[in-house]
Amino acid sequence: MSSNKKITLIIFSMITILTVIIVVLVAIGSRQTGYEGVKKKAYLTADIVKKSLTSHMVNGNMDQRDVFLNSISQLDNVKDLWVIRAKSVSEQFGKSTLSNENPKDNVDLEVLQTGKEKTVINESFFNANLRVTIPYTASSMDKPNCLSCHNAKEGEVLGAISLSFDIREDRVSNIIVLLYIIGTIAIFLVIILIYIRNKIAPYTSSFDQITDTLKKVHEGDYSVRAKNGVLKEDKEASIWLNELIDKLETVLTGIEKNLTSFVHNRSVNMNHDKLITAKEIIEDISEIYNYKKTIENDLTKEDIYYRLTIVLRDKLEIKNFFIFETDLMKNERKTIFASKEKIPCCNLTKGIKEYCRAERTNSIIASENFPEICRIASCKDDDKHICIPFFVNEQANIVIHIVSNNEEELNHVKSQIGIIKKYLEETKPILESKILMDALKHKNLTDALTGLYNRKYLDEFIDKKLPLELKEGTTFAIMFLDIDYFKMVNDTYGHDVGDDILRKLSIVMKKCISENEFIIRYGGEEFLILMRNPTEESAHELALKINKEFSKIVFNYNGDSFTKTVSIGYSFYTKDTDQFYKCIKYADISLYEAKSTGRNKVVRFTKDILKNGDKLDY
Ligand code: GH3
Ligand code: MG
Ligand code: MG
Repeated sequence: MSSNKKITLIIFSMITILTVIIVVLVAIGSRQTGYEGVKKKAYLTADIVKKSLTSHMVNGNMDQRDVFLNSISQLDNVKDLWVIRAKSVSEQFGKSTLSNENPKDNVDLEVLQTGKEKTVINESFFNANLRVTIPYTASSMDKPNCLSCHNAKEGEVLGAISLSFDIREDRVSNIIVLLYIIGTIAIFLVIILIYIRNKIAPYTSSFDQITDTLKKVHEGDYSVRAKNGVLKEDKEASIWLNELIDKLETVLTGIEKNLTSFVHNRSVNMNHDKLITAKEIIEDISEIYNYKKTIENDLTKEDIYYRLTIVLRDKLEIKNFFIFETDLMKNERKTIFASKEKIPCCNLTKGIKEYCRAERTNSIIASENFPEICRIASCKDDDKHICIPFFVNEQANIVIHIVSNNEEELNHVKSQIGIIKKYLEETKPILESKILMDALKHKNLTDALTGLYNRKYLDEFIDKKLPLELKEGTTFAIMFLDIDYFKMVNDTYGHDVGDDILRKLSIVMKKCISENEFIIRYGGEEFLILMRNPTEESAHELALKINKEFSKIVFNYNGDSFTKTVSIGYSFYTKDTDQFYKCIKYADISLYEAKSTGRNKVVRFTKDILKNGDKLDY
């Protein structure tokens, strides 16, 4: 409702209430005045009747009093009139034979008894009567003296007069007065309202204009402008307001245009309020910036994956998702993160380049777009999957595999795809450098020919990891392995054949060990195998297994077929010594023992095989 209408309504209501109060007060007042007038008439009539009856009595023509009484009851407005004799008068002068000289009702009897005047008003919609009964009392002061004729005491009730008046006319005239009042006030009311409306219209209309404009801006519509006001003050106000909306619109449109692409198609803001959109975009940018700054300082690739998991789970509220990392060199995939509540729709671990549709096409694959869009994926129940691929470099690819339970979850995921991609983009250079660093580090710590760890790795292991493992109570078996008569291979078939045999040996060793063991190419054709928490049996078994498996391989070079063997010596840390390097030495001494006692065998270190100096040192 416009403020002009509101003000008009308030004034109208107030004057109407005032009018009602005035009308009620006037009605009550004029009613009272009417009654008083009628009563005065009644007193006068009563007095006249009293005086006339006394005259009739003095003049001895009481028998004609009914003529008088009838004529007086014909008076204007007098509806009925009757005189009542008290008991004492009837006893003195005899009972009246006239019909209108006897008590008609209880009111008459009450007045005769009490000597007090009584008024009864009977009002209905069509009729209005005022009946008053006035007592006549004996008084020696009256002229003539009442007591001179009546056998009565001073103040005794001699009779009463009852008069009934029709007061309908009074009521009509009162109503007419009230109508005049109402009419006059109504005319004034209309004049006042028209005057006020015209006077305040310029103020209220510009106020309404500004309010409407602000309301629309508040709702997110920045295209509205307030019309120019009429008065000086509201002209200025509307100009300021329009300038403010102009600025807001320019800034917000700018933010939306330039920054939406930065955070992709985030479609959360359904009300299209530019201000809220801008706020969300700026929040997103600031959070992405924070994320980037944080992962830049992270130490490992695992830390970065951990941050990404936190963002997806807690910030973007993706319930069930999996992060897969593909090793593009090996064409294999491993799971970096897996939600606990769901199982993935895809279990692909090999042949990723060929079979993972998301990676192959480098595009988002959503199962709801086409039935069985990805033939490899199979979801439980009514689950839907969305795979977001993300190419890091030639070595690694990442896929975010999201599983949604229901429509609501799926819509939420779809709304977050843009921002997920942005986070992934920000992750890319940092992850890439970490992967490169890892690769370099790996290269630095591994042997190019066999892919096994090198001595540098062993030194690093002894420096950094070993103390931690020892704290946890881990023990080791250290095995030294050397190919028997290897030089001969090189000499006979060439260095390349020697290399080939070294590679084959490393494959055999890798196949024989479990995750509790690792192999180091110690130098040339010598290898060290470290075995965690061994028993006498398990260490012996492993050494024998490698020895046996390798000896089974038949090599074919230059038309020759031959087999090769290895010798292995092993010792236990800390069972044989509590010094790690010494334990390596003991394994080496055991290997030497194996070589010197015939080769192609496994020798467990014992104190007996130590030579003089070492024996003393043991
Ligand atoms: P044994 O150990 O049984 O006493 O005899 P051996 O012939 O194996 O003797 P030795 O351990 O002294 O010989 C090691 C040979 O391994 C010498 C070297 O030419 C060769 N060798 C070391 N590193 C490599 C390598 O990377 N490639 C090839 N092809 N040969 C290597
Ligand atoms: Mg050798
Ligand atoms: Mg050797």
